[in-house]
Amino acid sequence: MKSLMMAVTGIRGIIGETLTPDLALKAGKAFGTLIGKGPVILGGDTRISYLMVKQALVSGLMSVGTDIMDIGQVPTPTVQQMIRYHRAQGGVVITASHNPIMWNGIKLMNHEGSFINEQDFDAFLNFFRADELPLSSWDELGQVHCDSQSIYYHVDRILEVIDPVSIRFSGLKVLVDANNGTGALANPILLDRLGVEYEILNPEPNGRFAHDPEPLEKNLSQIKKQMAKGGYDIGFVQDADADRLVILDENGRFIGEDYSFGFCVDYLLSQETARKKTLVVNLSTSKLLEWIAEKYGAQILYSKIGEAHVTQMLKQSKAQVGGEGNGGIIFPKIGWGRDSLVGITVALKYLADSKKKVSEIVAAYPRYVMVRDKVSISNKEEIGACLNKVEKAYRGYSINMLDGLKISLDDGWIHVRPSNTEPIIRIFIEAKDDKQAEIILNEVKNIIK
Ligand code: MG
Repeated sequence: MKSLMMAVTGIRGIIGETLTPDLALKAGKAFGTLIGKGPVILGGDTRISYLMVKQALVSGLMSVGTDIMDIGQVPTPTVQQMIRYHRAQGGVVITASHNPIMWNGIKLMNHEGSFINEQDFDAFLNFFRADELPLSSWDELGQVHCDSQSIYYHVDRILEVIDPVSIRFSGLKVLVDANNGTGALANPILLDRLGVEYEILNPEPNGRFAHDPEPLEKNLSQIKKQMAKGGYDIGFVQDADADRLVILDENGRFIGEDYSFGFCVDYLLSQETARKKTLVVNLSTSKLLEWIAEKYGAQILYSKIGEAHVTQMLKQSKAQVGGEGNGGIIFPKIGWGRDSLVGITVALKYLADSKKKVSEIVAAYPRYVMVRDKVSISNKEEIGACLNKVEKAYRGYSINMLDGLKISLDDGWIHVRPSNTEPIIRIFIEAKDDKQAEIILNEVKNIIK
């Protein structure tokens, strides 16, 4: 069962191995039992396995009496938006997000349109593992309704909050790589409404990804090549469920995941009128965000890794903006989830209002380099001892222990964190340059060994 992951951030498995119709059926029954009558908003990304997983989930949800609003293949943030719109009790998203094509998964959302919390996830797991759950009689089965207009509603909601007029008159030309994911469905609707000239690479929402769906530099060669021909002002790439977004400048240079996120935060904080400004990011997010927060006199708070944790802290602190360094902006005025459509709109607004090029804006940012690595350990019991060794070695520095160990250095940081699912320890380092990052990484690896 190596490929099955079950965590609050979602269930993920490989089709034909661990993500089976039986599993989806059980997940449907368990989530329906947790939620009750519903309704539950059901949507998913464009993967080929979508229908197989969906039919089993629908059957499970109906069998325990939960009503379903089926909104079809849509971005994850669209499901989150529609939970609010229909005043639903929860949501289920069929997606393996940035994972390759053989994967699929299930994300579970609460009535606010954010990931269910750990407590609810534990309750869900108990129902999931139960031998039998009470089933509804024929006259109390869940009902299924459909809404095929949800992306239009989602886009309307964004444009109610972010005024698109300056974008419409900007003359900007945009290139987006939708990688045949749900961005292929949503981008034309959004970009038509924004009134910009655009082209979409891999525009078929057929789930046959043209490249690995994780928006990392190594997967962006097609758009980089196209942009290098010139004539575009900005490039965007989304992951398969269109919550994550990364940006390329007008020369086709990838600005980085954290810098894409920072770019959007920079604009949103510049527009924020509240006296007390707060930004929430996860612990592995670039120091660039500290610099941006300082620029606007905003407080920056750090959460555990994962959208669910960022959102919880956003709510508690009443922060105006948040997200994760891997390219996921959360703007609570619109929704509680990472949303690439919000990111695209904000980035275009930044260009239209500032009349600057992407490269000019990014050139003003301090440069940091991040490296990620992992070390295997023989078993999970070793984790504590490994973390202790690291803590001892960096005694004297400020250490945050909310999620593994985050050590603040003078010009960077170290984040050492055990994986939830595998016997590995992840190491994230940020430093001023490649050389410095490499030196620190080797230092940490030697300490753990
Ligand atoms: Mg995703």
